[in-house]
Amino acid sequence: MSRALIIGAGGVAGVVIHKCCQNSEVFTDICIASRTKAKCDKFKEELQSKTKTNITTAQVDADNVQELVALMKEYKPDICINVALPYQDLHIMDACLECKVDYLDTANYEPEDTAKFEYSWQWAYRERFEKAGITAILGSGFDPGVTGVFCAYAQKHYFDEINYIDILDCNGGDHGYPFATNFNPEINIREVSAKGSYIQDGKWVETEPMEIKRVYNFDQVGEKDMYLLHHEELESLALNIRGIKRIRFFMTFGQSYLTHLKCLENVGMTSIEPIMYEGKEIVPLQFLKAVLPDPASLGPRTKGKTNIGCIFQGKKDGKDKTYYVYNVCDHQECYKEVGSQAISYTTGVPAMIGAMMVLTGKWKRPGVYNVEEFDPDPFMEALNKWGLPWTENFDPVLVP
Ligand code: NDP
Repeated sequence: MSRALIIGAGGVAGVVIHKCCQNSEVFTDICIASRTKAKCDKFKEELQSKTKTNITTAQVDADNVQELVALMKEYKPDICINVALPYQDLHIMDACLECKVDYLDTANYEPEDTAKFEYSWQWAYRERFEKAGITAILGSGFDPGVTGVFCAYAQKHYFDEINYIDILDCNGGDHGYPFATNFNPEINIREVSAKGSYIQDGKWVETEPMEIKRVYNFDQVGEKDMYLLHHEELESLALNIRGIKRIRFFMTFGQSYLTHLKCLENVGMTSIEPIMYEGKEIVPLQFLKAVLPDPASLGPRTKGKTNIGCIFQGKKDGKDKTYYVYNVCDHQECYKEVGSQAISYTTGVPAMIGAMMVLTGKWKRPGVYNVEEFDPDPFMEALNKWGLPWTENFDPVLVP
């Protein structure tokens, strides 16, 4: 019997809520708390009659630590699943510390006024979480998240050392709009308009945005252009996986998306520098978010599949070895099951599984951890059970 406090009521939260409700044996009680309570109430209305999980809702401003503390003291959760935005991570961690509640998120902290994300801010909580006897799991979505678990699994079962990792994130879905983002537009555009980077021989190598392009033929999706991006899990994987020489992250983008993005950038619409408009300060990127389609509305329109996974090269018993493990997820199947597209689904399912790992004691250890620091086996088993089955290939085409 356990109680989870879910913060946020957007696209990813919707999937976490559906999945916790499917898993009532572990999640006997959930509280959905977000800035807009009406969105939380809507989930409760839709799901309460279909699940044994007892659902309550609350309004909370997750930037206000005292409000969070008051809610946690009243609800007494065992774990807090943070699926609001990365800006709230530290506030929610502070509240968890004060109330001795385990913590889990899907994206690392990012200050609102600087498009920069790295783990240093959250890793700085390690000692305090250890002393408080509580667990924090960072980045339990798909990437970061499942990609880290794939790495730990490869290391545990197939390699003595892993020298090269390429993480390939392919979205072969089509929502029919000329331009829309599959998750929070502000976070998504900040991520893809930043400089790219990868790790080579222990050092970060920086590239211009979208400078490195490759073409890859993805199982069940086909051939796609993909571009090298900076991504948060590179930082932790370079530390936690043995023998790393190079680690890169690629994401696919269609030409229409890139052309629109370039144009928006050129006219200043992706800037996070506030400007004055008719006597009011606005942030262009936040205004752009307001005019773009809500990612949650893409569910019924998106057709096609995602294919996300990792290609490894390394050594086992002195011999060269390659290994590719990936998940393929169908947008329409996700929509039928939980009412959202595959990007939210592939993030929300691992968030639920990560929380289940902590609540069932499998990943319960005081401190602050990235997913690859735990035993990957029970998580990998749960992926197959809860909707994200994976496929292995021991002779994959490598990325040049
Ligand atoms: P949405 O914008 O759809 O949802 C965010 C939710 O957080 C909204 O309900 C919003 O409230 C709520 N929120 C924002 N600020 C506050 C606040 N101060 N207090 C309380 N609630 C707040 O985003 P997504 O669901 O698409 O993304 C959620 C998270 O998942 C993000 O951190 C994103 O980076 C991460 N993510 C991770 C991925 C991975 O693979 N690891 C992939 C995709 C996303 P309101 O409804 O009022 O706006």
